[in-house]
Amino acid sequence: MMNEITIKIKKKSAHEYIKGYPLITKEAVVNFPDMEEGTILRLTDESNRFLAKGYHGNQNKGIGWILTSDDSQPLDQAFFVALFKEAFAKRQAFFNDDATTAFRIFNGEGDGLGGLTIDYYDGFIVLQWYSHGIYKWKSVLLAAIKNAIDTRGIYEKRRFDAKGQYLESDDFLEGETAPEPLIVKENGINYAVYLNDGAMTGIFLDQRDVRKTICDDYAAGRTVLNTFSYTGAFSVAAAFGGASHTTNVDVANRSIPKTREQFLVNELDPSAHTIMAEDVFQYFKYANRKNLSFDLVVLDPPSFARTKKTTFSVAKDYGKLLEESIAITNENGIIVASTNYAGYGMDKFKKVVQDAFASQGRQYRIVEQFTLPADFVTRDSFKEGNYLKVLFLEVK
Ligand code: SAH
Repeated sequence: MMNEITIKIKKKSAHEYIKGYPLITKEAVVNFPDMEEGTILRLTDESNRFLAKGYHGNQNKGIGWILTSDDSQPLDQAFFVALFKEAFAKRQAFFNDDATTAFRIFNGEGDGLGGLTIDYYDGFIVLQWYSHGIYKWKSVLLAAIKNAIDTRGIYEKRRFDAKGQYLESDDFLEGETAPEPLIVKENGINYAVYLNDGAMTGIFLDQRDVRKTICDDYAAGRTVLNTFSYTGAFSVAAAFGGASHTTNVDVANRSIPKTREQFLVNELDPSAHTIMAEDVFQYFKYANRKNLSFDLVVLDPPSFARTKKTTFSVAKDYGKLLEESIAITNENGIIVASTNYAGYGMDKFKKVVQDAFASQGRQYRIVEQFTLPADFVTRDSFKEGNYLKVLFLEVK
């Protein structure tokens, strides 16, 4: 059992916790004594009235997460079993759908426990731990998870060095090891994933609805440019939807074999597509020189990335990325603009889009808009947990 320490919340923040705000911040506490991560925090207001209980873990801007507003609730295995069972039950429609075998079954604070997510890949699960604090709870949490769900095998990813980066390690925990690649399905399309190959598995599950919409409604007969293409997942969805050709651009060399593989596991011929290892901004120059243009352009960059020659950050460069894309999108073409940058809300993102089109002297219309899909459960009291923003822009 973890130690428990009572912490006072400042008067001006107390009502946030009464309303269910799940993140404990340094700004909200009167003082924060030295303690081990993982310690149970019992929050009271300045008059010692109980507010909520949670745990201490440093993650991004927070110092911990709320777990319960019931002072008498023990934070024991039974508590977590109930939490996991409730979350897994919410995903029953996904478990019942044979066409989709990979999805998120536990989404951190959205499901009542910040700092841990669990993804399901055709019977295998991948846990992601986001702080030293939550990792201290590993044994009780793992026991609770196993009580709530039967799996073929369990993997974990630790994302908590000083900068919240993934810690390189053998990610296999127990059970069967997954085949490499493991083939999962999403809306009937196959994707090759690797559960023990670094921070990323090969597919970003939060883009499922976007891939489906591209496939069903925007791909037929169109030429596609997929930038920051990684394993080419958007392109495979587009090819399934009848795209005439896809061009995949990612600076990492590994993207070439990984993209070929995503086509091959669907019996699509990769040599019918263009797959390039190149910086996107270099590619835009090339496309301009060659007078290339596209009917559908996908922009889904990481929030921040450093390459040998350049650094890209959404905050600084998304406008430029859009401007370059507008210039090579055909009349009535579509730009799929996506970001998971936490510093932008949807309104700010729309403003960046508006400014980029204005600077190019072009008109546009937003024809689709997405945030996180249903399995990435978020809560109204924590809007910033819904980090995904995707706009489909019709270019005039
Ligand atoms: N859109 C992808 C996920 C992108 S992950 C998908 O849906 O699956 C981010 C990718 O951006 C990584 O593969 C990384 O190699 C690539 N990347 C980062 N900086 C880049 C740059 N300047 N030019 C091209 N690719 C870049």
